[in-house]
Amino acid sequence: MDYSELSDKAAENMRLALPLMKKHGVPMTPDNYAVWYEHVSGANAELSEKLQAMLTDNPILTESQCTGVYEQFFNVEKELVQVVEMRQELARLLKEVISFVYSTVAQTDRSNNHLAELLTRINRDMSPQEVHEVVEQILDETRQAMSNGEQLTERLNTAVAEVQTLKKELDQSKREAKTDTLTGLANRKAFDELVTKVTQDADNSGLDVCILFCDLDIFKEVNDKHGHLVGDQVLKVVSNTLKDSVKGRDLVARYGGEEFSIILLNTSLQNAKILADNIRKEIASKRIQRKDTRESLGQITMSFGVARYVPTEGVESFMQRADRALYMSKRKGRNCVSEAPPPII
Ligand code: GH3
Ligand code: MG
Ligand code: MG
Repeated sequence: MDYSELSDKAAENMRLALPLMKKHGVPMTPDNYAVWYEHVSGANAELSEKLQAMLTDNPILTESQCTGVYEQFFNVEKELVQVVEMRQELARLLKEVISFVYSTVAQTDRSNNHLAELLTRINRDMSPQEVHEVVEQILDETRQAMSNGEQLTERLNTAVAEVQTLKKELDQSKREAKTDTLTGLANRKAFDELVTKVTQDADNSGLDVCILFCDLDIFKEVNDKHGHLVGDQVLKVVSNTLKDSVKGRDLVARYGGEEFSIILLNTSLQNAKILADNIRKEIASKRIQRKDTRESLGQITMSFGVARYVPTEGVESFMQRADRALYMSKRKGRNCVSEAPPPII
């Protein structure tokens, strides 16, 4: 969303968004406003579909539903804000430590000069009393220097601990930005990044990379009949089934709504098709029940498109072919696996 666009359109969107937020009990926070502005602007069909699906269950949204939508669609921006804040925090910390080191060094210099001056005062004509005084002063200087050193060590240790905490927070926020909040699977951003990388690698290595595109069949009916929360429960069960079906090196992602995508490394097309069909059977054989009423949801099925990357075809062509294969499965009547057509090179 571009907050700087002070056009009539922006004003109109604002006029539309605010009453809707009020009507659906959405707190007036900047995050929520971003979601509803995007919705009324009509720029994000997936976001609007998600809101509408939630509202059919209950016209008043809960706080966690609002946060969920924001995180799903605005995570990247959130990550950027956090990264900027953390960098600023790190810069502040470093500035502070450096100025502390400088002031300690300056004090140590002064202390060294004073010590040198005290040493020049020691001579044979000194009375025991004068020797005593100079020795006392030298001891004082030395104690002071030691304490400065200790303070410096302590401050540096604190700074190291603070930097470690910042790093952990940064790692956490990066992880969250690549995770789907509902299912805990990788999200579309994580999938897009990895598929781009592995196809570039395959251009050089020629190693097998396959992808599966999977989409739940007639899922709208589940939502319509049982409500969105039950739909969410199904999405979680399906996510776990997908995750349990692949090896650790493979990636399962929630690509959007009720669509999932899987990257299979070092896997032939033949084996990818076998795996897809096994997952298909596993899901179709499940008898998922509503948690609240124990009512059976009937058979849940999924359609699959499988593609093997042809080196140098490029990631876009690869994904388009997998998508076409998925579409073929839907056309064939769903609950089946189709192989992608060859690339047009
Ligand atoms: P098809 O077999 O052709 O894929 O039919 P379909 O009904 O699955 O496909 P369609 O694209 O018409 O509808 C997808 C549905 O998925 C609509 C939407 O309510 C639902 N959906 C998308 N995201 C979510 C979600 O996060 N939670 C729930 N419960 N439902 C979702
Ligand atoms: Mg579907
Ligand atoms: Mg779909």
